[in-house]
Amino acid sequence: MDADLRQAEVVNLYAQHVNPALAKLMNFAGFGVEDHAEGVWIWDHEGRRYLDCLGGYGVFSLGHRPPPVVKAVHAQLDRMPLSSKVFFGELQARLAGRLAELSPAGLEFCFFSNSGTEAVEAALKFAKLATGRAGLVATDGGYHGKTIGALSVTGRDKFRTPFEPLMPGVTFVPFGDSDAMAAVVNGETAAVIVETVQGEGGIHVAPPGYLPALRELCDRHGALLIVDEVQTGMGRTGRLFGCDHEGIRPDLMTLAKALGGGVMPIGATLGTTAVWERVFAGNPLRHTSTFGGNPLACAAGLAAIEFVLDEDLPARAATRGVQLMSGLRAVQAEFPDLLAEVRGQGLLVGVEFAMDEVGELVIAQMTKRGVVAAYTLNNPRVIRLEPPLIIGPNEIELAVSVFREAVAETSGILAELV
Ligand code: PMP
Repeated sequence: MDADLRQAEVVNLYAQHVNPALAKLMNFAGFGVEDHAEGVWIWDHEGRRYLDCLGGYGVFSLGHRPPPVVKAVHAQLDRMPLSSKVFFGELQARLAGRLAELSPAGLEFCFFSNSGTEAVEAALKFAKLATGRAGLVATDGGYHGKTIGALSVTGRDKFRTPFEPLMPGVTFVPFGDSDAMAAVVNGETAAVIVETVQGEGGIHVAPPGYLPALRELCDRHGALLIVDEVQTGMGRTGRLFGCDHEGIRPDLMTLAKALGGGVMPIGATLGTTAVWERVFAGNPLRHTSTFGGNPLACAAGLAAIEFVLDEDLPARAATRGVQLMSGLRAVQAEFPDLLAEVRGQGLLVGVEFAMDEVGELVIAQMTKRGVVAAYTLNNPRVIRLEPPLIIGPNEIELAVSVFREAVAETSGILAELV
């Protein structure tokens, strides 16, 4: 089919049957129809190649279609993609065992689901049941998903308000402030839920000592600590898990996104023996998922973990992250009126603009030049650069130089407007 016709048909179908406002937004940003992808590259319907500096919001940490994951999934597809669930599931068991080996000490058990928000739902339910309490403390700007439970602990009014009343008993405090947390955690708190780096909140890295302070606070009050590693997990921040930077041990930890190797959707809620005893001992079917733990997703997860370890993706994220941030900081020094801050950890990097709506223009200019980037969902002043962790030094250089051109062009456009 003719490329223009294909694009027009898809945009039209989006506008008529998927989401008209989204169709408009994506058209403005200059996105065509995604056709295929490999490694750090995505091709559109016209055969144009884009450097992926968004990485599917953290899904493509291993790159697109990492060969060992694709191979494992192909093999499982031919054998048994989904299971009856009445027999023992071998791959689910093996993946749970592997995660217990690699995750922070004490997280012995794993419940599998299909997305980040489901992983969070399970963590919230488990925390309530394990403590017999209903109170939850979350952080402003924190992002945990958009199902009712996860949305109830997501710290952005724009997403929450239209759906109120949400789950009761949730208190929000500023991220990174352990005194503010100490003022609200008490004997009625079931859990504190937090990210190690607020991704959608605008790439805010937990200040040193913050997570250990939360651990101590939860212990003091008999509350559980839930660490949401849906975006930070699997090497993104320069360690296998964000928790590893300070060696903290959560009671519950959520994973999704990159755990499926960029090939299969999967969510996982890891927890301690104490939590599992309270949740499942009386009723093993207290929390279930039809598709959770399916063989296809678990085959992807097992292959993804070995790929991350074999390729030492955490170390690569750390090195390339330093390169990316120093390149972006040089651009910031050139355009101090436009760029307020560059910050991040590993290859979870954000650029904060000094004004609203500039990020949108810069993203459109980057797309035009063949580099994909995006907003952070809870903070439109911040764009994120979150490329696959397999990205090489030359591609980082390319991303920085395209970012520089996009900022320069935007600065020119703004100068003409005033
Ligand atoms: N938790 C965090 C930290 C996330 O970044 C996200 C997604 N951006 C979610 C949960 C929700 O994941 P999903 O979109 O797969 O439901």
